[in-house]
Amino acid sequence: MAVHWVLICHGLVTLTVVVSFLCGQWPIFQGTPISSIHRFITFGAYQYFLKFVGAVFGDKGTNLILSVEYYCCDRPNPILQIIYLAIIGTIYCIIAKTSFSYIPGYYLSGIHRYASMLAVGIGILLFILTSFSDPGTVKAENVSQYLSAYPYDNIIYTEKECSTCKLPKPARSKHCSICNRCVARFDHHCGWMNNCIGERNTRYFLAFLLWHFLLCVYGTIAIGLVLAGQLKELRVIYILTVYYGVDNSFGSLAPYIVQWLLGSYNTQILLMVFMAIVSLLLAGFFVYHANLCLTNTTTNETFKWQDYISWRKKLSEARASTAALKASISGVNGEGKPPESKCRSFFRRSPLEDTEAVIKNNVYDKGFFLNFYEVIFPVSTRASFLQTKSKSG
Ligand SMILES: [Zn+2]
Ligand SMILES: [Zn+2]
Repeated sequence: MAVHWVLICHGLVTLTVVVSFLCGQWPIFQGTPISSIHRFITFGAYQYFLKFVGAVFGDKGTNLILSVEYYCCDRPNPILQIIYLAIIGTIYCIIAKTSFSYIPGYYLSGIHRYASMLAVGIGILLFILTSFSDPGTVKAENVSQYLSAYPYDNIIYTEKECSTCKLPKPARSKHCSICNRCVARFDHHCGWMNNCIGERNTRYFLAFLLWHFLLCVYGTIAIGLVLAGQLKELRVIYILTVYYGVDNSFGSLAPYIVQWLLGSYNTQILLMVFMAIVSLLLAGFFVYHANLCLTNTTTNETFKWQDYISWRKKLSEARASTAALKASISGVNGEGKPPESKCRSFFRRSPLEDTEAVIKNNVYDKGFFLNFYEVIFPVSTRASFLQTKSKSG
């Protein structure tokens, strides 16, 4: 009985930590222990650790930790690339070791031994392609083409020069401080790929996300079919109903089957749960990025638009409150407009309610089909892009 309680407590603690980590910053958790745990995991724990190192080892210790942080977070490094290869390699080896002996089985043909290897190979190929391809680096040779390929919208992009590269900054480009270069149609710097995601490699990045989502779904279903095949081949249901007298219904058989699976195939169950969770995360990332591509926006621009819209809102609120102040002063002086009816002023929420609505006006959005085409066939790979130089130069 005590073991059950330990398991329940363990489950609750894990759930709290996962929810706090992923959702702790949501407004509904504001002021609750969930948001405190979120702050502690994401920021506080590291600060306490730094203070602890400082107290024990002095400034030398703190500087060492800060230089490690600088190397890991602010400089190009292959740490996450190695972790990705280690994860995919280890998972594949464990699956091969624990489950390949059941292939071919009742539900899976022998071809899946080779199909799985091919699927993982394609995944690694997409990873290499995204990691080592040029994301669209802006150089002196191509800056004039990029300038004419993406016009300034004069909202979130205006004519500017990159202070580091000393080159004009084409619209939609951003200087990546980690890679120390300007990247056209910059999306984000991806630590897993140790590369920027930009104009030329967003297509590989999208393919990587989609393929790894499918890979996880394939792995989960394949292991599920291996276990279902074992259930069938070992005639577990027959034994349970005939020899142990268990009622032949889902409700009465399920607990025995779950117990049997957890006892005999715990590695496979663990792998299935892991791949199912990762597939959900990848699906979320893929949908987010696919939506950006179809609306011809980038992650970088999403933040720029948010900043722009909140800046405009604040500006118009300030204008409205100034106008309200002026109106109240003129009201005191008995000048200006006739007084508002009591009924109307009661229903008026605030003097700021007339603030103008700011909407996103993305000039790069050319419709679903052309937006998708632009990601698959980036402008810099087209013949028209290369011809621009001969015209301008
Ligand atoms: Zn730059
Ligand atoms: Zn970068």
